[in-house]
Amino acid sequence: MSCCLAGACLLPLPALAGKPTAHVHGAASLQVAIDGNTLTLHIESPLESLLGFEHAPRTDKQKAAVRALSERLNQAGNLFMPSPAARCAPVSVKLDSPVLQAGKQPTGDGHADLDGEFVFRCENPEALRDLEVAIFPSFPNLRRLDVQVAGPRGQSAATLSPQQRRIAW
Ligand SMILES: [Zn+2]
Repeated sequence: MSCCLAGACLLPLPALAGKPTAHVHGAASLQVAIDGNTLTLHIESPLESLLGFEHAPRTDKQKAAVRALSERLNQAGNLFMPSPAARCAPVSVKLDSPVLQAGKQPTGDGHADLDGEFVFRCENPEALRDLEVAIFPSFPNLRRLDVQVAGPRGQSAATLSPQQRRIAW
């Protein structure tokens, strides 16, 4: 699922098309979609919140930071913990950001985002009642995560933070 460069993204599911996400440093948004036994998490974040800079990496240190970011986000099972009784396992991760593509410069106003899609398959989706988000310790610049959930129980929303890491529905 390819997505935006720096501005508005089209979300994959019409049901999730809420208010457009603002580019706010220190914040990010997470859409949670439950469809049958598939749990899909879509994060959209300013690079500043995850990486501390939004330009193409220039120094070795910045290049290493981009590699570390990519490696961390590919460990979806360490970042997002669905209800254990639902027995969900990560099956795919897709990341899209200008800094992850060699030679690509962020366009426009100098700001840039990262989009990530994390798909889990759940053996017992009826037991899927909450999600613990464990990304804050990895990304100290990130202080707020606006979460929207759409699933068989309807829609709900919450704001998570380093002090409040769990959303239930
Ligand atoms: Zn920015």
